[in-house]
Amino acid sequence: MLTDDESPNGKDDCFRTIAEHSAFGIYVLQNGIIKYANRALGQLLGVPQENLLEADFFSFVHPDDRTAVRQNMFKCLSDEVHTCPYTFRCQRKNGDVIYVDASNTPIAYGNEQALLGNLTDITSRQQLEAELEKEREILNLFMEYSPIYVFVKDQNIRTVRLSRNYETMLGRPLNDLLNKSMAELFPPDLAKSMEADDRHILEEGKPLKVVESFGGRIYETMKFPVLRPGQPAYLAGFTIDITERYQAEQALKKAHKELKARFQQIKQLQEQLLEQLIRDPLTGLFNRRYLQETLDREFARAGREKRPVSLIMMDIDHFKRVNDSYGHRAGDKVLTELGQLLTASVRAEDIPCRYGGEEFVIVLPGASLETAKERAEQIRLSIHNLRVSYRNQPIQITTSLGVAAYPVHGDNSDAVLIRADRALYHAKQTGRNRVVVYRGTAVMPPPY
Ligand code: GH3
Ligand code: MG
Ligand code: MG
Repeated sequence: MLTDDESPNGKDDCFRTIAEHSAFGIYVLQNGIIKYANRALGQLLGVPQENLLEADFFSFVHPDDRTAVRQNMFKCLSDEVHTCPYTFRCQRKNGDVIYVDASNTPIAYGNEQALLGNLTDITSRQQLEAELEKEREILNLFMEYSPIYVFVKDQNIRTVRLSRNYETMLGRPLNDLLNKSMAELFPPDLAKSMEADDRHILEEGKPLKVVESFGGRIYETMKFPVLRPGQPAYLAGFTIDITERYQAEQALKKAHKELKARFQQIKQLQEQLLEQLIRDPLTGLFNRRYLQETLDREFARAGREKRPVSLIMMDIDHFKRVNDSYGHRAGDKVLTELGQLLTASVRAEDIPCRYGGEEFVIVLPGASLETAKERAEQIRLSIHNLRVSYRNQPIQITTSLGVAAYPVHGDNSDAVLIRADRALYHAKQTGRNRVVVYRGTAVMPPPY
């Protein structure tokens, strides 16, 4: 313990000057009464320095902290030791409460025991800490109750913080999940890809979104680097269980795919149906109903475009004999092969149709009477050369063909068709297996 007797006056003055100019609030107390207070203490407590002398120190201590401060001072006096700094609240003259750090040393003052002490205003530090603490508490609450999985890992890819729900995901208490590598928490393959992603994030300094499956669930994770210059890097992120959403999406995709396939199927069926509507099943040629549509369309177009349309009407010669000699099935086979021959031998724009039993009409848009006659002759010859094999017997047939054309033989399809039929009748009359062009004109032939 120092005594002021031991201090020479000059030294005493020197210490007093130091105390006077100190930034800390310095005081000397005897029985709780302020015997000395420096200027800084006056400022700290919001009282003129001179008013502090002989004032009760405890009147500036917050009522709730008075007992603790008293005990601390008593301990210092009785043990005659310098106390470690301790914190309490002071009440300033204007009522403001401030936080101070204090430390005391027992001294002799005027031959009596006294306490030399100093106070430091730590209110702003205290407020900062309180705010930090509040934020920490909020963060802790989030980590405790978060429905999404939150994680922080260090630069060695070891867990630093995890939200409480990881206990349920990984089936281990949180303490057992911290400071662990990915391999210690997840299956090897997943751990490997997680680590690779994490290292990539730290190296690139960019966030990453990944979808991973684990324990039969699907998770979507967003992770990002926490990089601070000169400080160790961290990696933080959050994970959402998207199993239900993922499954719903997959189901939707599947349903969409199935719907598309169904749609395709329906489209095909529609096309087939349309084909069935316009095609004769035995010969594969267009049917009579389609012929009628075609005639209407082609004659209308020919009228607009001022160009001809020729019709060839064809009938198999003595077809009854084929049926009689070889049977009806043989007759059918002949019709089928004749259909194939016609399909193969006409141009793309020509329309071969089965008109009735063994009668056919070929529409030749744009073909002149002369061209149609040549085409009819080619067809006649091809059929003449055809041998339909039925039960190893070759069946040969011939046909008679009548040709008429728009506009020379009529200005509408019915008229031209009747004339083609007349020409066909003429072919039959004049010996069959021949082509006859209708003779005579219904209207004045145009220049085309
Ligand atoms: P032509 O025309 O030379 O005067 O003699 P034709 O024997 O061909 O006489 P017609 O036109 O009177 O006879 C047509 C025959 O064609 C009658 C019918 O049994 C047969 N026929 C019609 N449609 C089919 C069919 O789909 N299949 C079979 N096998 N025969 C058919
Ligand atoms: Mg006939
Ligand atoms: Mg016939």
